[in-house]
Amino acid sequence: MQRPVPKPSAETRAFWDAIEHDALTYQVCEACGKVATYPRGVCGHCHSTRLSMRPSSGRGVIKTWTRAHRAATPAFKDHLPYVIALVDLEEGFPVMTNVTGVYAGQVAIGDAVEVRVVDRGDGVKLLQAFAATGAMV
Ligand SMILES: [Zn+2]
Repeated sequence: MQRPVPKPSAETRAFWDAIEHDALTYQVCEACGKVATYPRGVCGHCHSTRLSMRPSSGRGVIKTWTRAHRAATPAFKDHLPYVIALVDLEEGFPVMTNVTGVYAGQVAIGDAVEVRVVDRGDGVKLLQAFAATGAMV
């Protein structure tokens, strides 16, 4: 069974277009300087529509994580167990990502990580956290 694919909206289109080009971006309000937690058409702080996308370093810290032993949908059943993490990025916004490979067995709250764009193997690109050593684990 095919796993779900992202469905960009008008507000998230720029984010997903950047992902297709292997770049993680985030939205900033040009009027008040606040970072939007997810891309939107109007700033949640000052209601300005002067919003822009900026590149993220991908550097962050594991805020929390969990290991899924039951698939949310049948499409993920063959991938169990898998690790999902919430990462606070240094630019001031969180991203939900998965963790695979050797690092998935070692992940801990407070770990320094690098969030990168990866092809999950079926042509769909998503975010994945790696240990901040620079090694692909
Ligand atoms: Zn604003």
